[in-house]
Amino acid sequence: MPDYMIELRNITKRYGDIVANANVDLSIRRGELMTLLGPSGCGKTTALRCITGQITPDEGQVFIDGVDVTNVPTHRRELGMVFQNFALFPHMTVHDNVGFPLMIRGLSQDQRGEMVMDTLRLIHMETYAEHYPRQLSGGQQQRVGLARALVYRPKVLLLDEPLSNLDAKLREEMRFEIRELISRLGITAVYVTHDQAEALAIADRVAVMNEGRIEQIGTPDEIYECPQSKFVADFIGLSNFLQGQVISLEGGLAVVEMGGVRLMVPAEAETQVGQGLLVFIRPNDIDLLPADHEEAENVFGAVVDKLTYLGDKIDYRLTVGEGLPLRVQTDGKVRLEVGAEVKVRLPEPHCRVIIE
Ligand code: ATP
Repeated sequence: MPDYMIELRNITKRYGDIVANANVDLSIRRGELMTLLGPSGCGKTTALRCITGQITPDEGQVFIDGVDVTNVPTHRRELGMVFQNFALFPHMTVHDNVGFPLMIRGLSQDQRGEMVMDTLRLIHMETYAEHYPRQLSGGQQQRVGLARALVYRPKVLLLDEPLSNLDAKLREEMRFEIRELISRLGITAVYVTHDQAEALAIADRVAVMNEGRIEQIGTPDEIYECPQSKFVADFIGLSNFLQGQVISLEGGLAVVEMGGVRLMVPAEAETQVGQGLLVFIRPNDIDLLPADHEEAENVFGAVVDKLTYLGDKIDYRLTVGEGLPLRVQTDGKVRLEVGAEVKVRLPEPHCRVIIE
């Protein structure tokens, strides 16, 4: 049995001068949920459509379950698909919508009936079998869309921004439902989204795309904690980017000068004195301390320029040293006024160096 259920090997797809996918390599394990994440136009849907067969790549190959399907039409690839606009038939009941893929595969009404009801039970919609789509909420309609994709137990489930037409609260609930259902069925899934919180919450692994290329593939934790480029660090979560110059190296640490302060950061093997470095640190990894806190390593004086109340946290814009802007987020317990003097600590393990 092949290790990977889906493989994109060196896929390139061009539209005139636009390179929608550039040498995309992606291997998705059996039973894995992979999200394709990136800004609008980065090539997520193109990659997904190469898997579905709606697009034939100009170069490269697509494998499903070890078989080269590059030139196999969509209906022979055994896929389930879920789209953002639900794509239900308005004149058909829930039961008939879910049974539709079975009908076109030639299953009798009896055979269909049991499979449809089993699938409706999976998504807790068995009591809605005789309803029409217009009688359902957005979330219910998307559950039916999911049921229709799963009813013939496809090898692979492909979801293209499936929750983007739902409100924020429902989106959050549904992402857990989808995650749980996919795990329970042991299905391999590819989930396209531009919402980084959704991608991190739902995925086993995330492929971050930018301008037609995959920038980084990793678990949600790896992508968040160890982004390998400025693009990934910036796209996933909030970051401060601090540009400075290495002035000395001491026992695995580099001292970087920036905006009148000296910051200790973990040194890479290739770090050299005189080198310019980009350091990034998350706003919630920075400690806010009282102004009279003693001088210490990576502790600097700062002034509050602006604060924004976000409910469960407060977002502070500070100036450190000689005009170094810094964003810090704390829980709502620390309340400071604009103009207040404080100290900030940038813990050295959270100061990551990005080599560009
Ligand atoms: P979104 O999140 O906005 O859906 P995406 O990441 O899915 O974006 P794609 O739809 O894959 O991006 O598009 C990648 C690039 O290819 C974009 O620049 C887009 O304009 C271009 N593109 C996609 N389909 C076509 C097409 N049929 N003809 C011409 N250009 C296209």
